[in-house]
Order: sequence, then C-alpha cells, then structure tokens
Amino acid sequence: MLLLSVALLTCKNAKMQDTNDDFSASEPTDTIPYISIEHVIVDCNYTFEEATMGTTADEDVIRELELIQVQYYSTDGKLHQGQILCNRKIAQNIVSIFEFIKELKFPVAHAIPIVRYGWDEELSMQANNTYSFCYRHISYSKHASGMAIDINPYFNPLRWKTEKRPNRPEGAEYNPEIPGTFYRDHPVVVKFQRMGFLWGNTFTRYYDDNHFEKK
Ligand SMILES: [Zn+2]
Repeated sequence: MLLLSVALLTCKNAKMQDTNDDFSASEPTDTIPYISIEHVIVDCNYTFEEATMGTTADEDVIRELELIQVQYYSTDGKLHQGQILCNRKIAQNIVSIFEFIKELKFPVAHAIPIVRYGWDEELSMQANNTYSFCYRHISYSKHASGMAIDINPYFNPLRWKTEKRPNRPEGAEYNPEIPGTFYRDHPVVVKFQRMGFLWGNTFTRYYDDNHFEKK
C-alpha cells in the first residue's frame, strides 16, 4: 500500500512538472489513497547498561532484571514508546498489560527507567512517571527486586487511610474522572489482579493506587 501510494504521488508530481500546469477540473483529485502511518514518539531508548547505571544494587539483583520496550498513548493523545526495567519473572505480564493499555487507549504519561530521575522516586512520581525497578527500601519494597510497577503515580497518589499525612507525591489529588486514573473494577486493575498481582489500594495503612506487585 505504501509503495503504491508513493508511486502514485511520484507519478502525479511528474505529470505536474511535465505539463507545468494544474490539474484540470475534470481530472479526479481523489485517486491518491490516504494512508495514515502512526508516528511514534520515543520517550527513551536506553541500553540495559544505561538503564542500570548508577544503581546501588549488586550484580545478583541486576542479573534478574530485564529491560522491555512498551508503547502507550500518552496524555497528549499520541502514541509513545518507553521502557520498563523490571524483574524477568514479570516481564511477560508487563508486556501483556501494556498491550491491553494501548488497546484501551488508557493514557500513560510516560514510562522511563528511573535512572532518568537520578534514582529519585520522588522526582519520578512528581513527573507522573511509570516505572518498576528502583533499589530503595530493600527490606520491604518490591521495587527493589523489580517485582512491582507504579503507573501514573501523580494521577493515582498514595493516600493515607487514617493518618493525617500528605498524599504521595505531594500535591497530587485523586480524581477518578481524570483519564489515566484507577478505581475499583477498572479493567486494567482487574487484568493485573487476574495475573496474580496485588493492587496497592488494598494495603492496610494507605491506598497506593498506582502500585501493583507480585510475590
Ligand atoms: Zn510502588
């Protein structure tokens, strides 16, 4: 199809040049097939070495990780390409989730390995960034082994259930009307749960709606 369209365009242009004339009114102007090729905006394109550079994790932890490429419609409505650095054990799940997210056109602001934010979760969350591996809070965080993923944390902030503490990231408010926000029975939440992920909304002390993890 593409080749055909290029050939037709070339043909028409050649004709225009030859005759040095506009098309006559009788000539059909709709003979060029309209082909839409979706442009992909690349948000990041790290190598594995670049995506893990500067982490304090040791080799055994890094060896368990995999860097996968994902596509999603961002908040600008355009198709973007990003990367998730996660544990090999959930890599195939994450690929399936992102295929589903793309199909639904559920907006993901961007998915960029946290090395872009200097391994600073706070900066990454403020930027509404989706990411998995971050070697911090290693005693309890599933992000330290790449077995958890946070999606659109600014749209889905961590909210304390009873304690009077600010949302995380600070300043972010929960509004389920905003596209890219999760709620109970949201199709993406359901898909995660069917794959055996625990949703952070069910934690004891807070609703961590952006967070999904696997044991
Ligand atoms: Zn998380």
